[in-house]
Amino acid sequence: MARYGMIMDATKCNGCYNCFLACKDEHCGNEYSPYTVSQPMTGQFWMKIVEKERGQYPKVKVNYTAVPCMHCDKPSCLKAAQNGAIYKRPDGIVIIDPEKAVGQKNLVSACPYRVIYWNEEKKVGQKCTMCAHLLDKGWKEPRCVEACPTGALIFGDLDDPKSEIAQLLASGKTEILHPEYKMGEKVSYIGLPKRFVAGAVVFGDTDECAVGVKVTLQGEGEKQTLSTDNYGDFEFEGLAADKEYVVNIEAPGYKTQKITAKTAIDVYLGDIILKKTAVRKVKAE
Ligand code: SF4
Ligand code: SF4
Repeated sequence: MARYGMIMDATKCNGCYNCFLACKDEHCGNEYSPYTVSQPMTGQFWMKIVEKERGQYPKVKVNYTAVPCMHCDKPSCLKAAQNGAIYKRPDGIVIIDPEKAVGQKNLVSACPYRVIYWNEEKKVGQKCTMCAHLLDKGWKEPRCVEACPTGALIFGDLDDPKSEIAQLLASGKTEILHPEYKMGEKVSYIGLPKRFVAGAVVFGDTDECAVGVKVTLQGEGEKQTLSTDNYGDFEFEGLAADKEYVVNIEAPGYKTQKITAKTAIDVYLGDIILKKTAVRKVKAE
């Protein structure tokens, strides 16, 4: 028996909403007993795309994070349910029984991820089922994963060491969206938005973009080095929040610049002007 899980690679997500729409296409107007009644057209986001705008003008970017039910091993929703209204299938998929859960509105607030939605017409809470009705028929993945054009959603058997998902989890590159909830979430993430420190380097004597200049970022046991791109720009991504970093910009023939950046927010250092080092004149005898 497989034990299903999902990884969302936020570095590959372009916010196209195909996963969200595929979920709507599969579940709106369709009832899949015994797993769920149909999903209303509006007000429910079983595959919720969270958009996060980061940085300050002129360095602004948007990150997208898909947030479905995490199909937790120790789900708080299950603990809150009466009469076995929420249960875990042997493959780990967490199901809200659409009959037993009628009237249990408390289930909506029992999930700290807020991925249970109330169906006012049917008086029942609803959420992602991982398309259990399709997996039962032999499908290899849910509709959202199939619809993702960028490969940002990876689905598979957590217990199969050869599966892509198991290998990614073993690589140590993944993390849980809210590890503090400690629910044994079976949806993990790669590249969740953290903090960046960026800037643009300019040669002060020529006013030209400083291309290929060495930039080093250092802070609390961490050191990263890169070269400015064809526009003189640099960016360190995935940094910890609320830390202090020192950015060093070095170019032969120019004075080294040292700038402190605090990552309470994403930091854009703006134009950094490099000044020529003074040429010492040698007096003729
Ligand atoms: S994410 Fe929320 S709804 Fe889904 S299993 Fe965990 S506690 Fe339950
Ligand atoms: S389909 Fe894939 S790329 Fe598009 S929003 Fe969903 S996760 Fe992101």
